[in-house]
Amino acid sequence: MNEAEAGRASGAGPGPDPRLDELRERLAAVRLRVDGAVAAAGRPGNRPQLIVVTKFHPAQDVRRLASLGITDVGENRDQEAAEKAAALRGLELRWHFIGQLQSNKAKSVVKYAHAVHSVDRLQLASALAKAMVAEHERTGRAPLECFIQVSLDDDADGHRGGARPADVPALAGLLAESEGLRLAGVMAVAPLGADPVVAFGKLAEVSAGLTADHPDATGISAGMSQDLETAIRFGATHLRIGSDILGPRPALG
Ligand SMILES: *Cc1c(COP(=O)(O)O)cnc(C)c1O
Repeated sequence: MNEAEAGRASGAGPGPDPRLDELRERLAAVRLRVDGAVAAAGRPGNRPQLIVVTKFHPAQDVRRLASLGITDVGENRDQEAAEKAAALRGLELRWHFIGQLQSNKAKSVVKYAHAVHSVDRLQLASALAKAMVAEHERTGRAPLECFIQVSLDDDADGHRGGARPADVPALAGLLAESEGLRLAGVMAVAPLGADPVVAFGKLAEVSAGLTADHPDATGISAGMSQDLETAIRFGATHLRIGSDILGPRPALG
């Protein structure tokens, strides 16, 4: 391996790195869309936090993104996230867990996650709270940011996960009173085939209800590659963007 190849393999240069150039361009295009949507929504200076969803893409891409100024990345499977976080421990990154989560994974997730966007049931909230007590004792880490994932499907058991809006207050109460957890707000994925205007409008209502009881829980995690403009229009504070920055997800090996 010559020096240029070694540099490419490490993702740290020297030598050309076409993938880095590609990510830079895609990221710039997404930032332009975000800026346009922020301006159109009349909320200048109030840019949502960009979380780049790196699931199925190698740790090397996360390293490249960090070199482009990305601070927040999202993953949806514990094993993959834990491995990448361990491989990239030296970088200043905040890891956001955005996928359906089994309670028995709580212990693992609190070791690396800054936030969990997919808290959708009491049992999971309890497991995260318990895991955070132990993790805080061990490391003194900051509270885990918790977003309540809300189902926007009409049929309550939407396969994309989430609590029914009627169940949000109880879940919020538990998160708010749990040591080691911080109730950050709400999260949703627009149902497949549904109008994102309707979906994110509904999420904004759920958020308004939540902040009436919990004034600090102003987070709205909404907006993916396809619908980020609509999400921003309806008050998204956190965007979760994958494919428009990283390209199509590689097939699972
Ligand atoms: C994969 C994923 C995203 C990113 O979706 P893209 O369409 O690739 O931007 C966002 N949120 C969740 C919950 C995801 O699973």
